[in-house]
Order: sequence, then C-alpha cells, then structure tokens
Amino acid sequence: RVYPRLAKFVIVGAVSGGGLLTYSQVRSYSRSAYVDAQSTIKKKKVVVLGTGWAGTSFLKNLNDPSYDVEVVSPSNYFAFTPLLPSVTVGTVEARSVVEPIRNIVKKKDIKVLFKEAECYKIDTVNQKVHCKSIQNTNAEGKEEFTVDYDYLVVAMGARANTFNTPGVVENAHFLKEVEDAVRIRRSIINSFEKASLPTVSEEEKKRILHFVVVGGGPTGVEYAAELHDYVHEDLIKLYPDLKKYINITLLEAGDHILSIFDKRITDFAEKKFQRDGIQVKTGSMVTKVTDKEISLKERSTGETKNLPYGMVVWSTGIGTRPVIMEFMKQIGQGNRRVMATDEWLRVEGLPNVYALGDCATINQRRVMEDISAIFSKADKNNTGKLNVEDFKEVINDIIERYPQIQLHLKSKKLKNFVQLLKSNEDGASKQIDIEKFKAALSEVDTKMKSLPPTAQVAAQQGKYLAKCFNRMKECEEKPEGPLRFRDTGRHRFKPFRYKHLGQFAPLGGEQTAAQLPGDYVSIGHSSQWLWYSVYASKLGMTSSSKYNNMKGTSILVSLLHWAVNK
Ligand code: FAD
Repeated sequence: RVYPRLAKFVIVGAVSGGGLLTYSQVRSYSRSAYVDAQSTIKKKKVVVLGTGWAGTSFLKNLNDPSYDVEVVSPSNYFAFTPLLPSVTVGTVEARSVVEPIRNIVKKKDIKVLFKEAECYKIDTVNQKVHCKSIQNTNAEGKEEFTVDYDYLVVAMGARANTFNTPGVVENAHFLKEVEDAVRIRRSIINSFEKASLPTVSEEEKKRILHFVVVGGGPTGVEYAAELHDYVHEDLIKLYPDLKKYINITLLEAGDHILSIFDKRITDFAEKKFQRDGIQVKTGSMVTKVTDKEISLKERSTGETKNLPYGMVVWSTGIGTRPVIMEFMKQIGQGNRRVMATDEWLRVEGLPNVYALGDCATINQRRVMEDISAIFSKADKNNTGKLNVEDFKEVINDIIERYPQIQLHLKSKKLKNFVQLLKSNEDGASKQIDIEKFKAALSEVDTKMKSLPPTAQVAAQQGKYLAKCFNRMKECEEKPEGPLRFRDTGRHRFKPFRYKHLGQFAPLGGEQTAAQLPGDYVSIGHSSQWLWYSVYASKLGMTSSSKYNNMKGTSILVSLLHWAVNK
C-alpha cells in the first residue's frame, strides 16, 4: 500500500531536484528508494509477554503488517487449560491440549519473533523488558537479554495462590500448567504402586490412598470428579485389593463448593459427591501441610485437626506473579493484587502498555470518580441534589462518555431513578439525590463489571486489543469511541465489553452442570454433550494447518472415544 505513494513522492522529488529523468530511470530510482525507505521506516514494535489465553488470542488476531511483533514466554506453546483436569487422569493426552507457538507464528503474514524466556523486569522509562532464557545456554547460568518495545502487551497470567500456607509449595501439587497435570497423573499411579508393596502396613495404605483436593472452585471440583471416575472405573480393576483403602476428600474454606455458580448447581454437586463417596468438608481452613498430614482449623469453632493424606492437589484460586508484583510497585500500584487498567486495557498512566487476562483488571473506581466529577460540575451550588432536567443532561453526558451506563440503567437498583427521568413531572421542582444515585450505580457497576479470571475473558480481551491495533491508524483519523472524560475529543476505540457465554462445571459420571447467559441452568448428561461439543469445536477452531486439524480431530476422537466407552 505504501509503494504507489512513495513512488509519487520520489518522482516529484526527482523532478524538483533539477534533472529530468527517463521513465526507466525514475522506475529503478523509485524502486530502490522504496526498498531503502522500507528498510529505514522503523516499524512500531509490539512486544507480547505470555502465550496463554490472552497473549495467544492477541497474536492470532493481529494482522496489520505495519508492526514488528516479538513474543516472550517461558512456554513455547499455548495450553487449553479447561482440559487440564482430564489430562491428570489420562482421558485426554497432554500433547492434545497444547498448540506450539511456532506453528501459530509460522502461519502469520506479519513478522513475529518468538523468544522462549521469561520477563523479570519491565522498564517503562527506556521502554525495555528484561528477560532471561529458561534454557541453560552457557556455563555461567541463565542468559539475560533485553527487548525494546513501542507497545507492550502484558499477558503473563497469574500463579497458584497458597495464601502463604506453610508447606504447600513443598508438599502439594498445583493444577495450573500442563506439566502439573502430567506430574499429578504420574503421582496417582505412584501412590497405587506404593500402596501395593508388601512392606506397607494397612494404616499406611489408607494414608497413601487418601487423595485430598483443597479448594471447592470449578477446577478443584472438576479434578475431584475426574479422579473419582478414574479411580473407580479404571484403577480398581488394576488394583482390586486396594479398593477398601481409597478415599477422596474435597476441602473448602467457605460454606459451599462451586459458590460462584447458581445455588441449584451447588446443591446438585454437593449431593452428587456425597452419593459418589467423595467427602466434601466445608468451613475448614488448611493452616499447614507437611509431607504426611494436613492441619485444619474449623472456621466456626476454631477446633483444629490433622488429616493424614497421601497426595494433595491445591486449587484455591490465583495470586500475583512476582514480576507483576514488582512492576505494580514500580508504577504506584503496589497496594493492588492485580494490575489496574482502563476500559481500553491500558495500564493506568502508561498509554503504550496494555495488560490483559488474569494479571489485570479494569479499574472501576476510576470510572466512578469520573462520574462523580461530572456530577460535581453540574451541581454548581453544592446542594447534593439536581432537578430532573439537569439530571437528564448529566446522564446524557455520562452516556456519551461511558456508554455502558445504558445497560446499568436497565437494572432494578436504578429503576426508581429511571422512572423519575422518564416521567413528565415538573423537572424544576423534583429533586434527585446525587449520592443516592451514585451509591445505587456503583453497586450495579461492580456487579456487572468485575470480570472473573477466566479463559473467556482473557481470550476476548486479546481479540479486542488485536482489533484495536489492526485499526490504529484508521481510528486515529476517525475516532469511534465515546467522549473523553478528562480531555477533549473522542477516544480512538470503543471500550472493551465482555460477552459472557456461560460456564461449565463437569461433575463426573458423564454429568456436567452448565450455567448459561440469563442464569439458565442445565445439569446432567445433555450438558455433558454440550461440554464435549463446545470444547471439541474450540480445539478444532484453534487449528487451520493440516497438522493442527489432525490434532483437533484427535481430541474430538479421544473425547468421543471416552464418551462411547463410558
Ligand atoms: P495464562 O493462560 O495463564 O497465560 C500466561 C502466560 O504467561 C503463559 O504462557 C506463561 O507461560 C506466561 N508467563 C508466565 N510468566 C511469564 C514471564 N515472567 N514472562 C513471560 N511470560 C510469562 N477458564 C475458563 O474460562 N473456563 C474453564 O473451563 C477454565 N478451566 C480451567 C482449568 C484449569 C485447570 C485452570 C488452571 C484454569 C482454567 N480456567 C478456565 C482459567 C483460565 O485458564 C485462565 O483464566 C486463563 O488461562 C487466563 O489467561 P491468561 O492469558 O491471562 O494467563
């Protein structure tokens, strides 16, 4: 696209330079000038940190050749995390849930470099990221290097959260990465082999075959269900003498498992686990883990207890990676758990640094501050109230700057205010209390916009940001976003909007709970089939080359094989 414009410029330049050139001279001159110009035009460099859901989605959707892209991640693959619990018991092979980054890069029409390394420091002053290779390439240890950026996309995810509980890191398994799932699989079999040895006492067999899962969220519950099916449908056929020693316990500090789901799902899951013989223990916190015992404290009574165990999987949510923590301290966000961004996913105060996925969250407080500022400006006499007509004007102004409020205005909490605004009553005499309105709005806002740390959010953010980058020039010339709060003019892009497509909780025994948009709940075998088809199609969709189609098909076949065999 640049070529014709450059050529025209060169011809004008040649003519104005005095000598008249022949057509072929102009052509060859313009071509070489074009090549020179191309090599001297410095493309904007986009550096992506992380190859998880957010980073990979960004990479796959970015297609503007005017960027040079460099990806840095210690994982040279993308992992389809929802299938990791299935990898722990071998129903799906580890190699089937990963997609090599170099395959993704190979398919891109834009220049993308990949470095298998981890970022350990971000220097926003010099626009550099400091990295170290995860391979030992020289005698002195790990190799370090820096990568310059014009735009930085931070998508480094999160790590498992231990709440600093002593002994967890040393003794528990996490289920976060593909390697974790493979390790868990090996460890389950090791437990059975160990318990089969003639030197092991009855008491020891019971301990070794006590499998504990800490954390009753979706991942912990799914793993417990997978483990139960694996043990009772496969392993007891191989180790029939050990059946009487096997126990699975699910520990949850809260009052219920799957508390983020609808109550119907929570109730169903708790009853199903009880029928299956999985012991669900709620209301008890783990205070310490040794190599053989888990110390528990009852939340209500303070009573303590030690639970002998053989293998423990720790799945109590996510925490901040040290590199992100350091970065947050550096940019004045040290008191936060995840990085705060605006609705365009830009890290606050750093217009060319974006953060998405599990390591970031959109800052609600800022939006409410902006809305407060608009109200304060309108309330000239500082009465704390506005008449209906003035209030309508403020609301229209906010909608222009913050379109999401239109959705909020449909909520029950704001119903009374909206009715007042719509009524034909005398706008001069009716007064609306600004503080009351803001309080109701912030309640709705938090409920509607605090995004869960899920693959769905991360993937949608990656895609959104790539589309913004693809249309950067176009939108700079013709901004399409809402009016700016603190500045004049419009934002370049529409803000990020999350579209919730529902969520699954596989519960074992070919039964899955699905909570779909509109709080529609479906539990049972039909939802299991929905789960198979959604994940098989998602995995199929991640592929376009022959290799990947084969991989997508192999997953589909393994899922069908699994389903048919059950
Ligand atoms: P990640 O996907 O974790 O990616 C982070 C990336 O950053 C990785 O490539 C990592 O190697 C890289 N990285 C780490 N440190 C560095 C560094 N120092 N420098 C450079 N790169 C670095 N969500 C759902 O929506 N549905 C589900 O069913 C579901 N099931 C799940 C099951 C399991 C077992 C797990 C663990 C998670 C599940 N999730 C699910 C959650 C989902 O996986 C996460 O929300 C999602 O992975 C977040 O994406 P992300 O890109 O922010 O982080």
